[in-house]
Amino acid sequence: MKTDETQVVVVTGGSRGIGRAICLEFAAPGTRIFFNYFNPADPQGEKAHAEKTETLVKGAGGWAKSQSVNVASENSVKTFFDTVMHEAGRIDVLVNNAGITRDKLLMRMTEADWDAVMDVNLKGAFHCTRFAGRAMVNQRSGRIINIASIVGIIGNPGQANYVASKAGIIGLTKTAAREFAQRGVTVNAVAPGFIETDMTAVLSEKVRTEMMAQIPLGRAGQPEDVAHAVAFLASEQAAYITGQVIHVSGGMYI
Ligand code: NAP
Repeated sequence: MKTDETQVVVVTGGSRGIGRAICLEFAAPGTRIFFNYFNPADPQGEKAHAEKTETLVKGAGGWAKSQSVNVASENSVKTFFDTVMHEAGRIDVLVNNAGITRDKLLMRMTEADWDAVMDVNLKGAFHCTRFAGRAMVNQRSGRIINIASIVGIIGNPGQANYVASKAGIIGLTKTAAREFAQRGVTVNAVAPGFIETDMTAVLSEKVRTEMMAQIPLGRAGQPEDVAHAVAFLASEQAAYITGQVIHVSGGMYI
């Protein structure tokens, strides 16, 4: 981890929601933020969202560059990280944030629903961790922060694919932490609870009410609540923390 404020930060899924808040959290003079996004169903929309993140980061005094990259594709991820390394020469922080849902009860869930979620949420983090990890191991420094979910710990009806991917992220975090520890690279996860983003905006009022009843702090979280925890894990103050999962959930699981 560099402390001279010239760090290079990579965020997957930085165009909206939690990823955008994370980009903004890191926005500072000297920090270069590379983020990606991917929505083939809405190419104009995805670009507009990404441009908004770039503008907001620049407005906060930072620097950001975005690219449409499907994290589920090894080739696309390789090209993305080749570009980052070519332009910046190092990677100090990787935040594996890109994620999707395809919610259905188990008995109705198709193989395609399962594969889509696992490919983005878990395989995507695997690809990015390998490519960024190589740079960090060579540097003998780096921080990897994976966005898991509280449901990856407690389960959730209708989300078998998503929950399995998030439980997998926690396993990936702990293993990468053990493998990279000797090389000065820490790997941790943040497990958000119910956060107000496009992902949760589609939930019915009934589901929202049920979720709210499970939150001891009695309110939904904001993307910034997650971004603050990510920034802490990337900071010098967190140098002795690795392989851990920080819950940002208003106490949904205590
Ligand atoms: P969101 O608003 O739906 O944003 C998802 C982001 O991921 C977007 O930037 C999207 O790009 C990007 N993305 C989707 N598929 C991608 C792919 N194949 N390759 C690259 N980027 C891709 O979601 P969010 O609520 O901010 O969630 C962010 C992370 O937090 C996810 O991992 C999610 O599982 C986790 N999380 C969220 C909550 C919550 O309550 N919101 C709770 C727990 C965990 P486009 O803009 O191009 O679509």
